[in-house]
Amino acid sequence: MVKSTGNKDNPIDFNFDNSFACSLEGFFVSCDAEPAIAPELLQLNYALALELGLDPVALDSDAGLAIFSGNTVPEGSHTLAQAYAGHQFGGFSPQLGDGRALLLGEVIDNQKRRRDIQLKGSGRTPYSRGGDGKAALGPVLREYLIAEAMHMLGIPTTRALAAISTGAHVYRETPLPGAILTRVAASHIRVGTFQYGAARGEVDKVRALADYAISRHYPEIADAKNPYLEFFLAVTDAQARLVASWMNIGFIHGVMNTDNMTISGETIDYGPCAFMNSYSPGTVFSSIDQHGRYAYANQPEILVWNLARLAETLIPIVDPDKNRAIELLTETIDCIKPLYESHWLAGMQSKVGLSTEDPQDQKLITDLLSVMEEGQADFTLVFRHLAKFLRGESDPLRNLFKDPGAIDPWLQRWQKRLEQEGVSKDTRAETMDRFNPIYIPRNHKVEEALSAAVEQGDMKPFTKMLNVLNHPFDDIQEEEVYAEPPPMSNIPYRTFCGT
Ligand code: AMP
Ligand code: MG
Repeated sequence: MVKSTGNKDNPIDFNFDNSFACSLEGFFVSCDAEPAIAPELLQLNYALALELGLDPVALDSDAGLAIFSGNTVPEGSHTLAQAYAGHQFGGFSPQLGDGRALLLGEVIDNQKRRRDIQLKGSGRTPYSRGGDGKAALGPVLREYLIAEAMHMLGIPTTRALAAISTGAHVYRETPLPGAILTRVAASHIRVGTFQYGAARGEVDKVRALADYAISRHYPEIADAKNPYLEFFLAVTDAQARLVASWMNIGFIHGVMNTDNMTISGETIDYGPCAFMNSYSPGTVFSSIDQHGRYAYANQPEILVWNLARLAETLIPIVDPDKNRAIELLTETIDCIKPLYESHWLAGMQSKVGLSTEDPQDQKLITDLLSVMEEGQADFTLVFRHLAKFLRGESDPLRNLFKDPGAIDPWLQRWQKRLEQEGVSKDTRAETMDRFNPIYIPRNHKVEEALSAAVEQGDMKPFTKMLNVLNHPFDDIQEEEVYAEPPPMSNIPYRTFCGT
């Protein structure tokens, strides 16, 4: 297929506004997508298109496909690969960058928010190093499904606008169908983007990046006495909230490298991520995380570690006196753990139906988690079935534990605590059902949907699962299989990176 650029014939108008390209010289290289031979549109997110002010019907066409496949550059787009560095599993790489992604541009959505539109898997860029710049269909669909599920669960995340197959193979251990995801993000600025500037000793560039990130994500602090310190505080709060929401929902990101932590506080890069089934804090799913650095229970520690790396990049702009800058930033770093804990506790209090605070709540919740761990109980269903228990059905909850009686003493304590609040059982149960999903992307169902798509070209299981995950809090009749934990297995579940 012949590639066309700056296409006047393509009727789709994104109304791009490319502030990153205009403001941050040195943080990107302009480049093009590689053409796709025989692209096919597999999934299009109509609701998201509308939110972005785009016409979904117009996108659901050859003209849309030409854009999502990288074969046509839409009017007004300035395609570029962003530069970033990053600590990967603790080791620093000064030069990473978008090796298989291309920013098309930014749009202003219907709530006046600026959003990046990016192709992921569109071919090599100057940052590809040894990689092919491509993505395989399985990981593309996986990112689509999990990002959308996270959004519906109320967790800040990048979104998926479209998935296409390219018609060509990508070569991993075996040939696999190639695909491209169109990703939407508040921005793609990461902790690693700051590290990129800092690693080069370019203080002015770091300052320009911070100014840009403040005006884009935290405009309310632009006039603060020390905006860069306030910026660090704002990112700290956004990321602490994010990781708390992961912990509250049983989500394991899997690769919390500093290049995968956004400044906006959105979850990004769904590679080897997964949701926990039975509660076990040491759970690791990623095949590349051999030492369990990014295990479920380590995520809050890694949050602090990553933010300390961001703080290091800000030292020269926070205060001309280096020691004073370090002192100021360290004060904030010391607050991250308690800040995270307060977000986590608030989330957990809602999950167990509490709307007031009591000094004993933390202990009440950690004791529940201990009983769950001991009883190998399913994380998601325990919280969901607490509401059932309030409605008079105790078996579904008790039967989640190896020994059903093991939860009884805790249930008595919990009910005593609930009595302090004077809320009716029904009202409380209804509120709890809005915090505790019934449907999460269960790993075994995700794999089922992906293998149907990849091995048989059958997208129906994917679409069906996506529809269920669009309503994670609503008990849908006849969709119980999506709520069930996997059949017992001795083989631990492993996820593989999308590379
Ligand atoms: P990720 O694991 O997706 O966070 O990627 C880490 C780094 O590797 C980023 O700089 C990516 O752009 C790069 N990368 C991952 N896969 C590929 C690929 N197939 N080709 C080129 N670069 C890649
Ligand atoms: Mg990444």
